[in-house]
Amino acid sequence: MTDFKLTDEQRQYQQLARDFVEKEIAPRAAYHDETGEFAGDILRKAWELGLVGAHIPERYGGLGLSTLDGCLIAEEFGAGCTGIGAALDGNNLAQAPLLVAGTDEQKKEFLEPMTGDFSLAAYCASEPGSELDALKATTTAKRAGDEYVINGAKSWCINAGVARWHCLVAATDPAGGAAGLSVFVIPGDTAGIAVGEGGKRMGQRAADLRAVTFRDVKVPRRCLVGREGDGARILGLAAARAYPLLSCSAVGLGRSAMEHSMRYSKQRVTFGLPIASHQAVAFMVADMDKDICAARLLAWQAAWLSDSGTVSGTQAVIARTFALDMAVRVAVDAVQVFGGYGYSREYPVEKLMRDAKMLQVVHGSGNLHKVALGRQLVGVGR
Ligand SMILES: Cc1cc2nc3c(=O)[nH]c(=O)nc-3n(C[C@H](O)[C@H](O)[C@H](O)COP(=O)(O)OP(=O)(O)OC[C@H]3O[C@@H](n4cnc5c(N)ncnc54)[C@H](O)[C@@H]3O)c2cc1C
Repeated sequence: MTDFKLTDEQRQYQQLARDFVEKEIAPRAAYHDETGEFAGDILRKAWELGLVGAHIPERYGGLGLSTLDGCLIAEEFGAGCTGIGAALDGNNLAQAPLLVAGTDEQKKEFLEPMTGDFSLAAYCASEPGSELDALKATTTAKRAGDEYVINGAKSWCINAGVARWHCLVAATDPAGGAAGLSVFVIPGDTAGIAVGEGGKRMGQRAADLRAVTFRDVKVPRRCLVGREGDGARILGLAAARAYPLLSCSAVGLGRSAMEHSMRYSKQRVTFGLPIASHQAVAFMVADMDKDICAARLLAWQAAWLSDSGTVSGTQAVIARTFALDMAVRVAVDAVQVFGGYGYSREYPVEKLMRDAKMLQVVHGSGNLHKVALGRQLVGVGR
């Protein structure tokens, strides 16, 4: 029988994350949104409490938490600030390929140091001129003896300005499409890597978001994760692990928007009644709760599948697309519940709306995932 009861340990972790977020993140979310300053000190404190990279196996010095455990933490960070929490999302995406396909040596070299001192990794997949979801990459990695020489550019990489290492997707066979993609782990200080400015953006402004160029970057063969051409398969396995976490960040954001809406709708009185009593507002809040609960359950199911070894990329994509669309819907409705004040920067929900939209366009847009899912369900190709 399916059991959704959290263990005592999971509850303790959830509480630890919630307390941390309430004390350290929520009070500073508006400041980091306004300034775009990276919240490195907050993230270091979170790491000290075991809330960053807690899924690294005990064998490499980590806590060995499950994907479901990670979902509990991700939801709390999402409820506090997805801009600050984006560092964890980027880190999770970068670490996932190593966790599912890295060798013991690679895990020791790249994951173990992250348990001894605070550091983050960047996920470098998307690039200008070629959408990775079409399973093409213009960034190339050419074999030259015992090395690979990497050339190309990635347009948006979370954490790249502060990363200890980059998880890079590059074409080892540029004519091979999906079969030509490979995954590399590359130390951040390797010669030839240039990290550009992030540029101004609508939401999640506390994220360290950068363009990264690779010019004749030479890495030893041991930086290849899995085999040449194994990239698409590894990314699929990694998504099954990382997407439930991304989904739960969105659940947290939605929860925060709903909680703000509930509080405000009890305080604000129109036509002699708190607006919560007006059916149109009550319906919006009810729909928020319904959709948040559904998104959480889908994410937990995908996490449970990943933890139990039944890797289901499909379930992870369903959870992810539902959660991201939910977060945008709920945040937009929260602005509506606040009326004119919802649009004001003096109130918290406009930030949530801006932050939520980013979730929907990143890491392979939701549209592309739905296209792939639809084709898979119906059984047609591109
Ligand atoms: C804030 C931010 C953070 C990011 N962080 C990272 C990161 O850490 N690492 C990383 O690798 N990337 C990152 N990205 C990049 C992100 O993954 C891409 O922007 C995303 O995959 C969409 O690619 P694109 O911008 O090239 O859009 P395009 O591919 O140009 O798409 C434009 C629009 O057309 C739609 N579309 C395109 N093709 C199809 C199709 N075949 N069928 C239906 N609809 C389609 C898309 O859904 C989208 O709505 C980030 C982006 C942003 C904005």
